[in-house]
Amino acid sequence: MPDLIDNVRAQLDALESHSLTRRRRTAETPCAPRQIVDGRELLAFCSNDYLGLAAHPRVVEALREGATLYGAGSGASHLVSGHSRAHAELEERLAAFEAPHLESSRALYFCTGYMANLAALTGLGATADAMIFSEALNHASLIDGARLARAGVTVYPHGDVAALEAQLEASVAPVKIVVTDSVFSMDGDLAPLPALLALCERHGAWLVVDDAHGFGVLGDAGRGALEHFGLRSPNIVYVGTLGKAAGVGGAFIAAHEAVIELMIQRARPYIYTTAAAPALAHALLASVDIIEGEEGAARRAHLRALIAQLDDGLRLERWQRPASTTAIQPIIIGANDEALAAAARLHEQGLWVPAIRPPTVAVGTARLRVTLSAAHTEQDVAQLTAALNQLERMRA
Ligand code: PMP
Repeated sequence: MPDLIDNVRAQLDALESHSLTRRRRTAETPCAPRQIVDGRELLAFCSNDYLGLAAHPRVVEALREGATLYGAGSGASHLVSGHSRAHAELEERLAAFEAPHLESSRALYFCTGYMANLAALTGLGATADAMIFSEALNHASLIDGARLARAGVTVYPHGDVAALEAQLEASVAPVKIVVTDSVFSMDGDLAPLPALLALCERHGAWLVVDDAHGFGVLGDAGRGALEHFGLRSPNIVYVGTLGKAAGVGGAFIAAHEAVIELMIQRARPYIYTTAAAPALAHALLASVDIIEGEEGAARRAHLRALIAQLDDGLRLERWQRPASTTAIQPIIIGANDEALAAAARLHEQGLWVPAIRPPTVAVGTARLRVTLSAAHTEQDVAQLTAALNQLERMRA
């Protein structure tokens, strides 16, 4: 009889031998640029807290108030008895927020973006004759959603509108679903959404947009990628996450009210799970207020200035930087062990920049993934820039 634990250990050893073991660090203070992590203060460039709302006093206070009003937990799934006034208010607020970009907009709040993406694809792609056209660099949750759906799946190359067009033209599927990240999570580049939408409208296809890294950040009012590109269409199914720029957690789908009704009736990641704590939804109402108001606009402007500062200051010759105008700024190193060594050297200097390795990115493209936040200062970015420039020179 093979030893079951030996088999597990062999898998772990294989990961270790390829420098692919992942390790967690334990933060002892709120998500912020300066955090106490495993007993040491670090200047962090790794969160998705793009607007610095995760520890914002108004959001924290709203969470406290939400717990007082609604208790600690929802107690049940939405369709049983877990759907609270706070969830309903948040959904109405989010539907109104995204309404300029959708037809008959309605929104549905999920526990996580991962689940919202599973729901969007399994809900729309519920039949075997449907076809999902999935962008090559889509987030893992979209890949998993496409796998779970009954629909067929075709992958189109990154950013390649012409290849997608050929695939759509060749398809006889009665239901076509194009799905893409808006901001690619490991490269920071933007999908060509206007061209994708034009194709979808021509071919009668849905366009599912995962705006995890755009919601709150892109667009003058922070409505995200659709506002950034000035898009509006009944074909769009919009997924926004609320644990990144909104600073709390969960996600929502905004789409035509009929699509949302279908999700409520059919989407298993919505139906068969306990509703998120209503206090989270209550706190998110404060986040959306900040995002939409003057403070949100000021935070977005500051974030844009920090992105430009990093871009101007980096003088890298050997390490590649894919073109990114967003808060996600990758520095491609190549080998897994080199990326880990670079992250370790930065850590020694009190900087926390994660090394991202396969399978999250393609083999041979291990990278440092810098993420900036409006909570950073110019001095923070100057410190990071100097450290990266020096590190590359040392290792050349
Ligand atoms: N989509 C993308 C592009 C993401 O980067 C992430 C989170 N890393 C998700 C979806 C999942 O969102 P959540 O963390 O809320 O599950």
